[in-house]
Amino acid sequence: MMNAAATTRRSHEPPLRTRRCMTCSSKREKADLFRVVRHADGTVAFDPTGRAPGRGAYVCSPACLEEACRKGLMGRALKTRVDNRAAQQIVADMLREHERRAGID
Ligand SMILES: [Zn+2]
Repeated sequence: MMNAAATTRRSHEPPLRTRRCMTCSSKREKADLFRVVRHADGTVAFDPTGRAPGRGAYVCSPACLEEACRKGLMGRALKTRVDNRAAQQIVADMLREHERRAGID
């Protein structure tokens, strides 16, 4: 049930849509990255679907996300200010998603 989106993901997406990690700049398939989105109201959140409307930025790993938070890269990528609480929420949500994906593989 929980795995349906991940297992069918590749079949209905155009091939090789790549994005860069905001921290280390490594180029990955969009499906292998983790997206952070700035919503229309200016709030920033982790986007597990990768499809939420708004400006998005990507990281490749929890380590890169933590570094992005520390260095303020997320705010720069999303052209907004990301407060500490939002950043911590994003880290927590991404770690959960990272573990979920790791469990599938
Ligand atoms: Zn990275």
